[in-house]
Amino acid sequence: MYLIDGQPSQSAGISLRAYPQGDILNAIFQTHDLVDGRLALSEVMFREFDSEVEFLMDGLRENRLAKQGWTIDREFRGNDTFQAMVGGSEGQYRIDIAAGTLLVILSTAIELCALEEGSTTAGLANQYRPGENSIYCLFPGVQEPEEAGFEALGLALDACLLLYFHELAHAINGHCDYRPKNDDEARALESDADFNAGTMFGVWVWHLPATYRKPKSEEDMYRRLIRASFLLGTLLKAMSARSTEYHHPTNRIRTFLGGGVFAFDSLGKSTKFDDVKAGDDYWEQKIMSCCASIKDALGRSTLKAFQGTEIDIEEDRHQMEKVTAQVLNRLKDGPLMKFKLKI
Ligand SMILES: [Zn+2]
Repeated sequence: MYLIDGQPSQSAGISLRAYPQGDILNAIFQTHDLVDGRLALSEVMFREFDSEVEFLMDGLRENRLAKQGWTIDREFRGNDTFQAMVGGSEGQYRIDIAAGTLLVILSTAIELCALEEGSTTAGLANQYRPGENSIYCLFPGVQEPEEAGFEALGLALDACLLLYFHELAHAINGHCDYRPKNDDEARALESDADFNAGTMFGVWVWHLPATYRKPKSEEDMYRRLIRASFLLGTLLKAMSARSTEYHHPTNRIRTFLGGGVFAFDSLGKSTKFDDVKAGDDYWEQKIMSCCASIKDALGRSTLKAFQGTEIDIEEDRHQMEKVTAQVLNRLKDGPLMKFKLKI
């Protein structure tokens, strides 16, 4: 069975044998006129993401998949939608990422970073004309790739990794082999994928090959996971055909970060709390402090319509704690047990 996150697509798009560059990128993004600095920046995004994922997948294949006779392949699809999916069964899976996914994430990251207080890329804060937004209009103000800034490129790569890990978690935890019976079960699988994606992020990002991509400190790592979760959660809620099956972005951050904290604790990279409530308060505070600036930026951006109201957020949180968590426990102790990757 296929699990799809993001936009539905009219056609799947051709399967690409390598990450797209140059003419191939232009053919996929025909309506976007990707030339000069904008084309160069797009090429950087694909090259960096591909090398990071390939590096991490090599490790996963060697350490976990091969021992169980599992394979998880991956492909870029030649279409400009925001979509990632995973399909297959019984240990043989494939993750497909539509090319549009990377550039939509990059474009929105550039806009939000430019709109943050004290941004070094503030020159890109007003790239858009009325009616345009950064999902459908890819960084129109960028003339040289460097202008986008390392903050935005890093945020975009982090959010892409987190989405990739989310798909990987669907496969590893047996979700592709189970058909959810209702929206509650579908939300439970999404929640499980988010938690495990957070754990993978918390374990693997320390080991990324490029020096500029290694976290500078534990605080830096927490901040990166929280901001990437915020951006990804916002885009998925905004653009998905399955929107009702997703929790609100603010609440999904808690799940991604919950998985991350599990990793940080096991690696000795976070403060340990004997008291559960004290731990919850500590991480809640981190979410608030790391999100404040990007949340404000969202409110000033071309994507401001995608902010939820606080009432939505509270209701959704209640649903997540009271229903989703219970349904997930039942699935994990039951049907998913026989499908997941054995350690
Ligand atoms: Zn999913």
